[in-house]
Amino acid sequence: MGSKVFDYNSIEKESLSCNLCGQDDFSVIAVRSKNDLPVRTVMCKNCSLIYINPRMTSEDYDKYYKYHYRQDRNSIKSSTYDTDLERNFSFALKFGHAMAETMGQFFTKGLTIDIGSSTGGVLHGLKEKLPDLDVLGVEPSIDESNFAQSKGVKTNNAIFEEWKNSEDIKEASNIICVQSLNHLLDPKGFIDWSYDNLKNEGHLFLAVKNFRHQVRRAGKISSGVQIDHPYMFTPESLRCMVESCGFEVRYIDVDEGKSLIELSKIKKRGFSVHHIRLVAVKKRREGESGLKCSGLYRKERSNFYPITVKLYYLLKYSKKLEILRKILHIK
Ligand SMILES: [Zn+2]
Repeated sequence: MGSKVFDYNSIEKESLSCNLCGQDDFSVIAVRSKNDLPVRTVMCKNCSLIYINPRMTSEDYDKYYKYHYRQDRNSIKSSTYDTDLERNFSFALKFGHAMAETMGQFFTKGLTIDIGSSTGGVLHGLKEKLPDLDVLGVEPSIDESNFAQSKGVKTNNAIFEEWKNSEDIKEASNIICVQSLNHLLDPKGFIDWSYDNLKNEGHLFLAVKNFRHQVRRAGKISSGVQIDHPYMFTPESLRCMVESCGFEVRYIDVDEGKSLIELSKIKKRGFSVHHIRLVAVKKRREGESGLKCSGLYRKERSNFYPITVKLYYLLKYSKKLEILRKILHIK
């Protein structure tokens, strides 16, 4: 892949086994991406994890993020990429405050690592509300990590996959990953790493986009597919991954199904809506820790037929109905 032109079609792809359960049996649920690239999205028939398969190699993803990410993202969002670091920081700061207010009870004092910490706003916001935290960010973008440092948030400028092998962390009290899990090429590797580096009773905090909510709102599966999200999660598949790695879920807040009023309150508080917020605690593994997704595929598969997605959209999210519901005062 050259540094000037990004031609997704000509880049060689690799086939992958399921990141969670390791099996190779899947259903195809979409064949295009939101910006109309030929991207195949599959659902594992064993554990129901949704992922892009085949996909670019990690070397090509590196180049993509370095040279083409902004341009490609602009074509998805049809707006300019948010390069305003101050703005990014102030949104994230509010997010950190909201996290402390709603999940503060789960934080314990000590080392608190944010993977994909961007401008450091989340950590800064948390530290303001919970001063006992010893915060550390890990962020691949040079501009964003420099900005975080300038705000006093200690940040290592590195790609997580390389950083995790070079640092001997152990004994973290809290590990956070806010809206970055979708971007990781090995999300289970991240959850396993979190388990290995948290102290007993330490907590993992995740904020992840809900793929099911996203496609239902759009009425189309491909609308939720973008190449910088190699893995996609539903509340159930996220819980399954976390539990399969040895955690116990202590808190899960899902925006799907909430009323417009509730959603606007969540937004006002500082969270991004259409997400899943999950807190899990590390428990000592007792006996076998196997896959915790039994029977999930059958339930999840039916949610991802084009017709089911369309029906959901027509019944719950289409604009016409939105207006009608308002007139009839039906929430
Ligand atoms: Zn699987």
